[in-house]
Amino acid sequence: MTSLHLRGTVLPDGDVRDIWVLGDRLTFQRPSGDVTTVHEGGFILPGLVDSHAHLGHHADTMAFDPELFAAAARQYTGDGTLLLRVPGHREPIPASLREDAAAPRLVTAGPWLAWDGLEDLDDLQTRTSDLTAAGVAQALANDGWCKTYGDWEFDRVKTPESVLRELCDAVHAVNGRVAAHCQTAEGTRAAVLAGVDSIEHAWFLTPDLLDVLAARGGAVTPTWTGFIGHVDNVRTKPEGPRKDWFLGGVESLRTATVDAWEAGVTVLAGTDSLGHGDVVAEIGHLAAAGLPPAAAVGAACWDARRYLGFQGIEEGAPADLVAVTADPRVTPEALRHPSLVLLRGRPAK
Ligand SMILES: [Zn+2]
Repeated sequence: MTSLHLRGTVLPDGDVRDIWVLGDRLTFQRPSGDVTTVHEGGFILPGLVDSHAHLGHHADTMAFDPELFAAAARQYTGDGTLLLRVPGHREPIPASLREDAAAPRLVTAGPWLAWDGLEDLDDLQTRTSDLTAAGVAQALANDGWCKTYGDWEFDRVKTPESVLRELCDAVHAVNGRVAAHCQTAEGTRAAVLAGVDSIEHAWFLTPDLLDVLAARGGAVTPTWTGFIGHVDNVRTKPEGPRKDWFLGGVESLRTATVDAWEAGVTVLAGTDSLGHGDVVAEIGHLAAAGLPPAAAVGAACWDARRYLGFQGIEEGAPADLVAVTADPRVTPEALRHPSLVLLRGRPAK
């Protein structure tokens, strides 16, 4: 059997190494037998990660469509994004999609579960009078995660901290984790204090909350991509509390990015896309907010992988790799043009 060989600067460590691919695994020890060199020079990093993706949903109806999912998944693979966390999907992801060797690895969380006291929800959410039971069931049925809401409308009731705490305690008891949508000061505070693991959107975080989150190894996903394109339009709207809320929330994303990282919170790159998300653009938004470029890449690569329980470039790890010519820690845009993508040990590009 011929094994593939790559040589280059391996990230994040920065050492020049030889990597061989045996089946779907990588090794630093040269195997016996034939070897084909498929990459030499440049930089080799673990596959990219979109930690907040909702691929497979129609933008107008929000209906789940397996064909849309499969198409977006393959686009992700083509650009080197090889791991997706999906915190919200209308229907269970069919096994055929999970087992698609050309699709990224998945961390699913089940439907968008909402405490039934929240008001003005749209069709997206699954209301439940027993959030705890529903969250535990979804964490067990998916990949250890469930998804819920700390809040919805900025001027309506928020999910009580006690409700979120009961959910978190029960999900943690089955070794699961909770991701919560948080776009208000009250909802964000309740979610952090209740024990939510991953704060999604992460508006209006404060330094004291970042310390709480850092102390327990928590994460934030600022999802800049979902908001930044709306700012100019919202600025043209009449003054009022909704406008103040939105602009204040987007303004606060700097806290959820730079201050969070400095406090020791894991920052995750997430596009919040219904289709194929542009992870490199999200890295750009994180860097533009002031995150050092290497940390911005880490948020979409090695740091996200570690947080989600996936290996980087290590002996015996799955061979999910991206190779680029320029150093993405200096120029993240270099990730737009991978010279090689390996998924499960097979060239995807
Ligand atoms: Zn989302």
